[in-house]
Amino acid sequence: MQPIEEIRVRLDGDMQQLESLVAGGSAPAGASGAQEGDKALSKRFEELKVKYTGKKGEISGLLRSMGTLAPEARPEFGKLVNELRDYAEAKFAALQAKIQEAEIASSLSGSTLDATLPGYRIPAGSLHPMTQVREEIISFFQGLGFELALAPEVDNDWYNFEALNIPPDHPSRDMHDTFYVDDKVVLRTHTSNVQVHYMETHRDQPIRIIAPGFVYRVDNDATHSPMFQQVECLVVDKDISFAHLKGTLFLWARHMFGAETTMRFRPSYFPFTEPSAEMDVSCYFCKGTGTVPTGSGTLAPAGGAPGQPCRTCKTTGWIEIGGCGSVDPNVFGKVGWDPEKYTGFAFGFGIDRITMLKYGIPDISHLTRNDNRFLRQF
Ligand SMILES: [Zn+2]
Repeated sequence: MQPIEEIRVRLDGDMQQLESLVAGGSAPAGASGAQEGDKALSKRFEELKVKYTGKKGEISGLLRSMGTLAPEARPEFGKLVNELRDYAEAKFAALQAKIQEAEIASSLSGSTLDATLPGYRIPAGSLHPMTQVREEIISFFQGLGFELALAPEVDNDWYNFEALNIPPDHPSRDMHDTFYVDDKVVLRTHTSNVQVHYMETHRDQPIRIIAPGFVYRVDNDATHSPMFQQVECLVVDKDISFAHLKGTLFLWARHMFGAETTMRFRPSYFPFTEPSAEMDVSCYFCKGTGTVPTGSGTLAPAGGAPGQPCRTCKTTGWIEIGGCGSVDPNVFGKVGWDPEKYTGFAFGFGIDRITMLKYGIPDISHLTRNDNRFLRQF
């Protein structure tokens, strides 16, 4: 048993030496000196570990030498060697932890880093309220099986006007409303150009699309901005009626403004739908009464104080949401579809307007001013 005891004594000696180096600081102060010392210490540690517990190390050597012993001595010898290996491994593990601690301590003492200072807080952003509303609208209609469709913001006269049954003398072509790039190219005044693009490329097949995007008009006041976002829906198939339009819009209005929401259509005129309507939903601030109910302290301030006339709907009890109607047969004709075979409906509304209504925002310019005090509230 002598070689086992002898290795244990040498191992203890080597470990003690290394431990005192770790405890006493292995190198002169200063960042580079400390790092050099740490490297030497780690190297020495690895050398010793290999020397004793490595595959070709001294402890494995003992096991290999077992063949030279008398058979009856081997079990006892093997047991002692295994104990020695466990002992050595525990010693090395403990020392490695000490060396790592010492390395961290010396790297901190050599630098100007103060680990006790609080960290920097990285500000977390969130989605713009209009983006949130747009995503909510898209995801609702996608849930109904609508497909997302897009079209250019700078587009030919054909797509923005002509194919949508807007003749050259129509008032909406007036320079006061439309940004012209040149005689034949405009900044689109509505997302309805998506309808024309989509029907041209998906001829004679059922269509259900939701089309959000930026549109441009020469207009600028508290509730109008020259650039704003619309979202448009188009459904085309055989036997699509106005009832489908109403059912779809009603589902959406209740999703957006609450389950108690009611809805009404007012006759209207758009060149690309026939018949056409404006859609109103019941005012959700005053529940359609025109007066802000008492005990409604949680309502958005745009509605007004409890008991006062409702500012959001201007006491009418209704809020105008957007335009809609059945696709005009002339539009089908323009894009090469058979108006005798197909019918459809379309509707569109301003995402800016829906956002203002949903959150009670009184001035549209808040949405584009990029003021963090405003945006942080969403
Ligand atoms: Zn109201």
